[in-house]
Amino acid sequence: MIKKIIILSICFCFFLVGCNGSKKVTSEEKNKDIMVDYFADNGFGNTVAIVQHPSGVYHKGITYVAYQGPLEDPYVVSYNHKTKEWKGPFKAGISEMGKDPNRKKKIDNHGKPALLIDNEGYIHITFGGHGGMRKHGENPLGNHGYGKNLHAVSKKPLDISSWETLDNVSLFGTYSQFVKMDNGDIYFFYRHGAHRSDWVYQKSTDNGKTFGEPVSFLKHKRRTDIEAEDSWYPWVSRGNGGDIIVAFDYHICRDKNNPQDTRGHIPERHNLYYMLFDTKTGEWKNVKNELLEIPLTKEMADEKTLVKKIPDDWTFQAITDVDPNGNPHVGVLVGPDIGAKRSGPKRMQHFRWNGKEWLQSKNTNLPRGNGDIEVTSAKEVSIYLESETNNDVGEIARWDSFDGGDTFKKNKVFLQRENSGFVISALIDNPHPDARIIVGEKEKGSDFRKMYLLGDNGPIKRVKKNFGKIKK
Ligand code: ZN
Repeated sequence: MIKKIIILSICFCFFLVGCNGSKKVTSEEKNKDIMVDYFADNGFGNTVAIVQHPSGVYHKGITYVAYQGPLEDPYVVSYNHKTKEWKGPFKAGISEMGKDPNRKKKIDNHGKPALLIDNEGYIHITFGGHGGMRKHGENPLGNHGYGKNLHAVSKKPLDISSWETLDNVSLFGTYSQFVKMDNGDIYFFYRHGAHRSDWVYQKSTDNGKTFGEPVSFLKHKRRTDIEAEDSWYPWVSRGNGGDIIVAFDYHICRDKNNPQDTRGHIPERHNLYYMLFDTKTGEWKNVKNELLEIPLTKEMADEKTLVKKIPDDWTFQAITDVDPNGNPHVGVLVGPDIGAKRSGPKRMQHFRWNGKEWLQSKNTNLPRGNGDIEVTSAKEVSIYLESETNNDVGEIARWDSFDGGDTFKKNKVFLQRENSGFVISALIDNPHPDARIIVGEKEKGSDFRKMYLLGDNGPIKRVKKNFGKIKK
């Protein structure tokens, strides 16, 4: 009898332990209040990049951030710097890309969102485009690619919780880039199709309700000397006053079968160029204030807008900013052609215009990795860079110059992680010092990314339970 009671008691004890919760529940309970230094874990693929920009805007105390999430759909979060409250991520639209399991290229990555807030406070994103498809009809300014460029607007001002997708920009767009002027005019820049397409802008003077027809500013064109076409990669940004500034490099878009390079079509890019668009007069000019005719051809680009000829090494992702006197700084990644269809790791090279000529920074030790540039005075320049050190440590750091860009020194490390790398956004528009750049952490063996919002105090933290339930 005693034996029976003991056994029953033991069973009852186990029952109680079971009721009070298993080990799993306990750890979940603990997780609920854990603060982490990332704000979401559903970034997907190359979730942000320099080219599609801005992907973050600071506006009236709040930073708004857009990134590519699961199934390549656009997601938006916001952070209130005063109350420290995060909202989202909310899905802001549905991309036509990222849904086909049979597609050879698993993640397209071209349709990442760019974000803009209009003068009425409505939040706009464009996303989902990689040049459109044949089923969408003839592309009058280039060739077809994939996806469909879409424009979504928040249903209420400064509210990221609900969105409406509009049909008022060209579906052939890719590499979305937004610029808003002081008077509220919106310029929407993009490539009008796949590689063999013009770069264009569409202008809206009514807060994005309607856009004018696409205007070509960089011309794709058949070459007559080799079996290839002229193709371009510009990056646009606000200059001083009514100026929009453009840094760009050149892509030799070779035919698949061509006698000049048996490697066929390769992502080969060269040279660095700069020009500006005076939106007040409608004039396009080079750095010497000489007028340019658009769409700019390769011949005119070489004659009038060249910053640096880079004929042997390959280039990637130009960036630009101007000092208060209007003197531009431009950067571009440069690395050796290492054969096959690739180039070697690329380092940032920095150039500045001194009023007479382009000067190159003395630094040859800027890290290998992508970044964006901010010129705060005639003397002070900062470059924000992601890089991977030799010890397999991923790092986001700021390199500062106090001599107008002649020399740079690593001055601040925002984030460092062992055994990982990062993808970074362009600088957030009008940034709060605590939130300058958006970062996705590449994790080995996964296409999902932890998302960080970085500023002068490092990553902005968040309670994990508040985004843990987002479905991947
Ligand atoms: Zn090409």
